[in-house]
Amino acid sequence: MTFDAIVVGGGIIGCTNAFYLARKGLKVAIVESGTIGCGTTSNSFAWINATTKVSDENYHRLNALGHATYCKLAVEFGEDVMGLYPTGALELVSPSDPSGYAAVKERARLLEGLDYPSGWIGTREIRTLDPHLTVPDDAEALYTMSDPCLDAPKFARFMADQVRALGGEVLENCPAQKLEATDEGVVTGLETGHGVLKSPRVLVTVGPGTPEVLSEITGYEGFASRFPMRRVPGLLVVTPSTLPHRMVRHVLYVSTGAEFHVLPTPDGGLKFGADDTDGMVSDDPSPETVRRAALMLLKRAQEVIPGFSGEACIDDCDLRIGVRPYPEDGMTLAGQMPGSEGLFVIATHSGVTLAPALGSLMSQVIADGHVPDALEPFALERFQAFG
Ligand SMILES: Cc1cc2nc3c(=O)[nH]c(=O)nc-3n(C[C@H](O)[C@H](O)[C@H](O)COP(=O)(O)OP(=O)(O)OC[C@H]3O[C@@H](n4cnc5c(N)ncnc54)[C@H](O)[C@@H]3O)c2cc1C
Repeated sequence: MTFDAIVVGGGIIGCTNAFYLARKGLKVAIVESGTIGCGTTSNSFAWINATTKVSDENYHRLNALGHATYCKLAVEFGEDVMGLYPTGALELVSPSDPSGYAAVKERARLLEGLDYPSGWIGTREIRTLDPHLTVPDDAEALYTMSDPCLDAPKFARFMADQVRALGGEVLENCPAQKLEATDEGVVTGLETGHGVLKSPRVLVTVGPGTPEVLSEITGYEGFASRFPMRRVPGLLVVTPSTLPHRMVRHVLYVSTGAEFHVLPTPDGGLKFGADDTDGMVSDDPSPETVRRAALMLLKRAQEVIPGFSGEACIDDCDLRIGVRPYPEDGMTLAGQMPGSEGLFVIATHSGVTLAPALGSLMSQVIADGHVPDALEPFALERFQAFG
């Protein structure tokens, strides 16, 4: 079989990129070793935001473009089929924690300067926006009213369906095995579990497995040992539906007591995480530690969400470990592999937020050979490993 482009990896990044390439008229194949969305995409908090990314303006703007591109897609397809749902987000802080308070306040100032839809609110507005919470009388919040959430595996499957509708192939249970290229490094195809696919362009989007998969398909061990990316595990505790009691209406980042974050899922459940519990399961992913960390999260949550059963619902919860693909400087890696012709890579954290922006921008790189300004800062060449 012959294609104009092959995308390796059917996560949110791969499926969205394949969609934008197919939209440009390319005949595209997605090659996925498992099933669509089965990787980190299925184990993500999945809050679409540029709220937490303010230290680098280019990276902030790339994330904001991700958000804006979802809005464009929603106008075309509708939110429901895409798995997009509006929530807004509240980051609760208290002046009694001076350093935490100052950090969020400073971020609010930067977001305002970046023209990001956001505001600073007090206890009365917090209680109005999310009436079922117990918040201290001195609580204040950074409110980002337009940050939505995504059912990320649903969106990946939706993008894969669009690829099929545009004449592309979606090959599941089909691992990429070996890149075919000339001695000069010009890509000609890919050996897969379903045979050889011919194509002058191969885009690798395999999330946390990027170093190992690149090493395996190219036969160059240096990718596995020197690729500038870490695997950063995180714990998510997902409750069954709590409907009809919609206990939490927004994405909440709580640091008015013990820290945690929570997001309402589309079926009425709650999804919890926290930085310190991520650290616990990263150091020791044994079932005992995972359960202990989950119980900590549920206990903290009950203090803020009084109607919630907390630790008592542990056995009904889904405890999931997701692995973040985390480039060394925390920002996206996206572009052509230096020294090759026709091999492209995307590896990124915040991939749920970024997927449509990266799809739309990378399709210009891959199909037209044009690197848009917005992508230039994220080229692989910025790391010595590719110098
Ligand atoms: C706990 C947690 C919370 C997060 N929260 C957020 C958030 O709130 N907002 C946000 O924007 N992002 C968040 N992220 C990050 C985001 O989820 C990821 O950046 C994104 O899911 C990465 O998608 P991907 O398509 O690159 O990788 P994946 O979803 O892992 O997809 C890669 C695919 O490649 C396939 N594959 C692997 N090897 C091969 C092979 N040899 N051949 C073919 N296929 C192969 C895998 O099976 C997999 O399906 C979070 C991540 C975690 C873990």
